[in-house]
Amino acid sequence: MEGKREREPVYILKYLLFIILFIFAYLCTLLLGAGLFSSALPAMSAYTPAVTPTQTERPIVVLDAGHGGIDSGCTSEGVEEKYLNLSLARYVAEYLILYDVDVIMTRTEDVSLHEAGASSRKRSDVQTRVKIAREAGNPLFVSIHMNSFPAEKFRGFQVFYSRNNPKSEALALQIENLVDTKLPEAKCRNSKSAGSNVFVLDRLECQAVLIECGFLSNDQDRKLLTNGAYQRKLAFVIARAIAIQAYS
Ligand SMILES: [Zn+2]
Repeated sequence: MEGKREREPVYILKYLLFIILFIFAYLCTLLLGAGLFSSALPAMSAYTPAVTPTQTERPIVVLDAGHGGIDSGCTSEGVEEKYLNLSLARYVAEYLILYDVDVIMTRTEDVSLHEAGASSRKRSDVQTRVKIAREAGNPLFVSIHMNSFPAEKFRGFQVFYSRNNPKSEALALQIENLVDTKLPEAKCRNSKSAGSNVFVLDRLECQAVLIECGFLSNDQDRKLLTNGAYQRKLAFVIARAIAIQAYS
């Protein structure tokens, strides 16, 4: 009993010390929260890197669905080129977006792009497409068309490239090689440099190609190109090739 009485003051002292420490800690928390010690803390901006890392520029692709509106393009067995061009271009756009590529479409509906009152609607239409590509900065320009020829036997997929930019050929070969490998049924032909008669390619300085996806005048090609599943497969392969070139 004597020993217990001697230890009681020690317990009381410990108890008081604990309460004092608790109150001190509580006050410190309040003061810090009020920002009174903020001058002693480094500012948050001090932790922000002085130089923001350079953002990788997102590639821009201008997708040009050929013809439209009053201009059907080539036709065969009731199939009009303008609709197939638009359908394929839409699929290519959807896939390109998945590759983090910004896409600008020259048309998203069945319309001609000529200006009202233009003396030559065809020339005005193509000039509008060139203008859209130029205003996009330095995009990759990909025009989508279907071919036709009086002799039914000709068929196959072919890319034409602009002579104005050396990268155009690389883009064409990227598309050609991937289509040739992944879609042998497309019967890929060798890519060719386009002459000045391909107005839209001749007027552009950026990487620019025009794809003739197949011959509507050929039964086999026409059946493939009007098939939704084939369109999607072809669009995916084209989009993948464009994305590879865009990020190279
Ligand atoms: Zn065409």
